[in-house]
Amino acid sequence: DAEVALLGRSNVGKSTLMREITGHSFDTGGKPGVTREPNHYDWAPEDFVVTDLPGFGFMAGVEEGRREAIKTDIVRYLEQYAERILAGVVVLDGKAAVDIIDRHSGPDEIPHTVELFGFLQEVGIPAVLAVNKMDKVEDRDERLDAIADRFGLYPPWQQWEAETIAPISAKRGTIEPLNQAVRHHLHAAKRDDL
Ligand code: GDP
Repeated sequence: DAEVALLGRSNVGKSTLMREITGHSFDTGGKPGVTREPNHYDWAPEDFVVTDLPGFGFMAGVEEGRREAIKTDIVRYLEQYAERILAGVVVLDGKAAVDIIDRHSGPDEIPHTVELFGFLQEVGIPAVLAVNKMDKVEDRDERLDAIADRFGLYPPWQQWEAETIAPISAKRGTIEPLNQAVRHHLHAAKRDDL
């Protein structure tokens, strides 16, 4: 089955999304920063396997070196399996993402999330932004345009709706835009195989 890799900072709602996608329950609030092997699960009812990669970025009680090691593991995994990975889904907290990105942007600094998004593209993995927690976002279009802008995607965000920007609420179970984006890449990959 086609593999979809799920990435995101801690606390963006990755476990909640995994639960919604697979129907299994996941440890939300498990021990942060503990090394985990990437795990594979069925994405029901789609024909995908979803790989849960560890959360990265700031985690309370996790030291810098450990955080860097997690990021290195993620990058290695993506590099190694780029050929078979259909899409890399970067999960964002729609309410917090722009502030976090702007706080970590500077002349010598690229935010991890933005860096990983670029890295996916570099290794040839189609990248999807799952903008989560949209139930908390009031200025929907402005917010999504700002997010698009931070990832170098020219606004208006609707231009990217079919395959790259998927506004969702994992908690409410509204994830159809993400299913659609991933299906888009599945069909594109099948066409390429012909
Ligand atoms: P993870 O660290 O990325 O695995 O994040 P979790 O799945 O543990 O979620 C972190 C927090 O965000 C929890 O309090 C969730 O209930 C909350 N959360 C997750 N998805 C949503 C969502 O779509 N909307 C809202 N409002 N909260 C969410």
